[in-house]
Amino acid sequence: MSEIKLVFDEIKPKKKAPEHLADLTIAERRAKVESLGLPAFRANQIATHYFTHYNEEPNSWSDIPAAMRPLVAEHFLPKLLTPIRQVECDKGKTRKDLWRLHDGVLVETVLMRYKDRTTVCISSQAGCGMNCPFCATGQAGLTRNLTAGEITSQVVAAARACASGELPGGPTRLSNVVFMGMGEPLANYNAVMKSVRNIITPQPDGLGIGARSVTVSTVGLVPGIEKLTSEDLQITLAVSLHTPDDELRDTLVPVNSRWKVKEVLSAADKYVAMTGRRYSIEYALIRDINDQKWRADLLGRLLKNRHAHVNLIPLNPTPGSKWTASRKEDEIAFVKTLEKYGVPVTVRDTRGREIDGACGQLAAANKA
Ligand code: SF4
Repeated sequence: MSEIKLVFDEIKPKKKAPEHLADLTIAERRAKVESLGLPAFRANQIATHYFTHYNEEPNSWSDIPAAMRPLVAEHFLPKLLTPIRQVECDKGKTRKDLWRLHDGVLVETVLMRYKDRTTVCISSQAGCGMNCPFCATGQAGLTRNLTAGEITSQVVAAARACASGELPGGPTRLSNVVFMGMGEPLANYNAVMKSVRNIITPQPDGLGIGARSVTVSTVGLVPGIEKLTSEDLQITLAVSLHTPDDELRDTLVPVNSRWKVKEVLSAADKYVAMTGRRYSIEYALIRDINDQKWRADLLGRLLKNRHAHVNLIPLNPTPGSKWTASRKEDEIAFVKTLEKYGVPVTVRDTRGREIDGACGQLAAANKA
């Protein structure tokens, strides 16, 4: 328990990240503007530039007096993300960005354009303390929690890339945000929830992305799921289950030794009861580890009367790892078995494989 407690909102940067507009509530933004001797309405202007126009350069804002711009830049929009590397695949429709934060820490985001939507997958922590053995991020351990400003800035950068037509197919709107990059979002609860509010609050005070288009994933931190339930938001909860039995899950997802499969699912059921939102079960299919038919049967029995949808993810192997993706025939049999129980199931497309698309692989490669 002490190990898990350690990663709950307690990992702070060695050198504090500079405070950013996105770290503040609407009331705090106004109060800060006034404390700097500026009229309160400037808070609205700053938020509009940032959340509506995705413009983080006060020097280019003509509605703010030139003499005031350096003050605004310093106190509200310090540069939090420096681009280090950008890698593309799927003819540019999938793009991975590697960012350096103020203290040198590296994080990644992945932007994916589909026919009907554009999704960004963001990081909530630098590294991760959950130690899942099949995951590149887990191997590196946790460096620190990201701030709300650092998390929100990843989304704003993605929204800007979409709006300015950086992806093939012309300008588009960022429609979905998934907290499935580096880190366990519920282990950095406060900053993640502040970011969620920045994402779903209507413009100009937030990005105005619908709550139903935001997904927060967790490996099953039950107190975090309970807190999330009490927020009564319409965001989607994704539980990374990876196996229906505690024996294997204790190994695949070590936090399972604290919260067992039944406890995790029961917390997710309460989320459904409060929000009416179906949750998603994430299941990385790993060859000969968790892809047997009997496990699919067990998962089907566990989920058949629950309001859940299974998202099977063919594992993207990390370099040098013994874990690899399931055989196609085993994947098909797994899907069929779940369908037999009436459990809705989809197989996630494997976007990003050529660009080290599994979480943490790009950051790991850059450190090497
Ligand atoms: S799979 Fe997710 S929770 Fe597990 S170590 Fe990787 S980033 Fe952390």
